[in-house]
Amino acid sequence: MTLDISSNTTDSDAVDSNRPRPSHSDILANAGLSTKSVHAGEPRQKAGGSISAPIVTASTFTFESTDDLLRFVEGHEDRPEYGRYGTPNEKSVEAKLAALDGAEEAILYSSGMAAIVGLLMTKLSAGDEIVFFDQCYHRSREFCAKHLARFGVVTRQVPTGDFAAMEAAINESTKMLVSESPTNPHLTVVDLEKFVAVGKANEVETLIDATLATPFNIRPIEYGVDYVLHSATKYLGGHNDLLAGSICGSKEQLEPVRKLRGILGSVNSSHNLYLLERGLKTFELRMQRHNENGQRIAEFLEAHPRVERVYYPGLASHPTHATAALQMRGFGGLITFTIKDADWKETSRVVDAARIPRIAPSLGGVESLIEQPLVMSYFSCTPEERIRFGIADNMIRMSCGIENAEDLIADLKQALDA
Ligand SMILES: *Cc1c(COP(=O)(O)O)cnc(C)c1O
Repeated sequence: MTLDISSNTTDSDAVDSNRPRPSHSDILANAGLSTKSVHAGEPRQKAGGSISAPIVTASTFTFESTDDLLRFVEGHEDRPEYGRYGTPNEKSVEAKLAALDGAEEAILYSSGMAAIVGLLMTKLSAGDEIVFFDQCYHRSREFCAKHLARFGVVTRQVPTGDFAAMEAAINESTKMLVSESPTNPHLTVVDLEKFVAVGKANEVETLIDATLATPFNIRPIEYGVDYVLHSATKYLGGHNDLLAGSICGSKEQLEPVRKLRGILGSVNSSHNLYLLERGLKTFELRMQRHNENGQRIAEFLEAHPRVERVYYPGLASHPTHATAALQMRGFGGLITFTIKDADWKETSRVVDAARIPRIAPSLGGVESLIEQPLVMSYFSCTPEERIRFGIADNMIRMSCGIENAEDLIADLKQALDA
């Protein structure tokens, strides 16, 4: 008997052999987040029969002949050419990120900041203006206000969530509306329906930095936002072991963004992309735990007598809880809280007494992190600037990792009671 290995058709399959089979991409289009993050962008059969994507270390890619090269330069073949323009590892991770956000395309950068810079440098020219909600990552604010200004771009900041002020700040030179949601560190959730409506009414493009939300909790593309930015350093990578960033949106709008990235050169090594891809496979599982830990710890903190105020969009006490409850699936792992009647020194004693969370900047990794914004990110600011940015001396920010909630709560309890 000879074994036919070219087909494993059974009798029951044979009866239905004319039935159209859904393609790999049809199945993925309707799949859940984990199915997408595990399988999207990966050829079913990879080099050497490897189940995981081989790390392609090449900086350049060979052509068999001049004819082969001509086919490529004339646009008949989509294939890697030179590392700065794209690599096989990058391609599969970009496909996963686009699938998670429900976008046509995603572009990877070497960090979240490189992604913001890459997008804004593509879309803005001298004389253009941008309007953005004032609660935001301080380096984004610094890039716009200090550096884009050197190239003749005007930045107008308006209070977060104040759509009337945003409308009033728009004029015929306005090219982009920018916001984070939720914001850092006040966790203000922006109503994406209103944000998009203001953009469309004024024919201005919109950008949401959804790093804190992640595609598990909200997908701004579904609301009509033009560009969604992630610092993949945070929840997408998820292990506090890499830096990366991404922008997703439509193919057409991203085409010039990708071209400029090929010039700016802010790309990832394939080793880094392997780490991101590996992190992404467990993205949904991790987010479920981050959301659960965030909610439970926020509730614990709010009930603790030494805690003055908790900023967490999953709490009814948060000013934007109603919007968060309507638009988000969960509220993430980041919590900001203040200590009652404490100066900066007493506040730092709580930070130092915590045994499980480590003192470090960043968020979104499996390890819980804790910090006092005054001493960490805002140390170089003047007292006036800290008041303007809403950074209080008695403020603590905690990024809940994936440890067990009861252990984190017991640890915070002993730190607060110390
Ligand atoms: C961390 C962060 C960034 C910057 O990302 P990097 O990967 O550190 O460059 C931008 N926006 C938000 C909301 C962030 O938390």
